[in-house]
Amino acid sequence: MSALEATPGTTAGLVCAHHHLYSALARGMPAPPSTPTTFLSVLEQIWWRLDTALDLEMLEWSAKLGALEALEAGCTAIVDHHESPNAIEGSLSVIADACAEIGVRVVASYGVTDRHGPDGARRGLEENERFLAGGGRGMVGVHAAFTCSDDTLAAAADLAVRHGVGVHVHVAEGPDDSSAVERLRPLSSDDWLLIHGVHLPDDHGLRGTIVHNPRSNMNNAVGYARPARFANPVALGTDGIGADMLAEFQLAFVAARADDVSFSPDTAWSWLERGWSLVPEARTDRVRWTYEPMEPWHLAYTPTVRAIDVDIDGEPALRDGVATRVEPAEIRARAAEQAARLHARL
Ligand SMILES: [Zn+2]
Repeated sequence: MSALEATPGTTAGLVCAHHHLYSALARGMPAPPSTPTTFLSVLEQIWWRLDTALDLEMLEWSAKLGALEALEAGCTAIVDHHESPNAIEGSLSVIADACAEIGVRVVASYGVTDRHGPDGARRGLEENERFLAGGGRGMVGVHAAFTCSDDTLAAAADLAVRHGVGVHVHVAEGPDDSSAVERLRPLSSDDWLLIHGVHLPDDHGLRGTIVHNPRSNMNNAVGYARPARFANPVALGTDGIGADMLAEFQLAFVAARADDVSFSPDTAWSWLERGWSLVPEARTDRVRWTYEPMEPWHLAYTPTVRAIDVDIDGEPALRDGVATRVEPAEIRARAAEQAARLHARL
């Protein structure tokens, strides 16, 4: 942990550089009508049915549960990418308020897409603009180039420039998004987050930070991104499967080792540390862990490290593994009620 390990067994707050807080209620959802066999059918059969069914009440409790689970894992900052096509307006404020209640920092964005027609894309852009213009900590979200028109991609890039933030976009997660490179290259800049990049060529020329999501990539069988091959900075995200960033670091390490036995945990740790350049405030947060030293070569082979105490913005948020600002059992109970509503709609 080097300079950031102030005292043994402590670190700054960890950062999840790509999350979908709306997916916290997905666990246990009914099986899709047919078993997905490709990346695109995973989107169609699971995620695009789920996000269409969300309303703002479900989103509120999904975000609270996701933020609570992040805090319990020592993650104090979430870079979120949201979509709820039937509850767009106000959705980013619902997420920001939910995270604020738990005490976790969030950088919110709405994933603009044309898959619900140009009006859906327009309303997604407006939600990003409404949130940013109101002083929200955010980016401009784009689902992915392959679900957006050229006009929508240009409008999103322009909106981001006007607000001095980057674009947060899925890129080449599956082979269906192979045209992304040519379409995004003229628009991208260093403050963009390029999520996945599994099917990007080594010399893709896109500007921005590549966010590697090893658990999600394995879960969707999209292939190994081999992020060490890119000239871009690399950060780590979970793509909506919790926010346990030590676990994601360990998966990033072992996935790389499966590909190259000479891969060092120091490299995977540098990807985790990259999160602090995306959300610098998290450097001031403090996490005390069940293990010391918090150092890459130890942590790569220690799968059971837990957060004990977390201070965010100088104030307690977790003590002895229990959230201090909210009632965790209440959040889990209300989230379970909303999950039942959501699953009934599916
Ligand atoms: Zn994602």
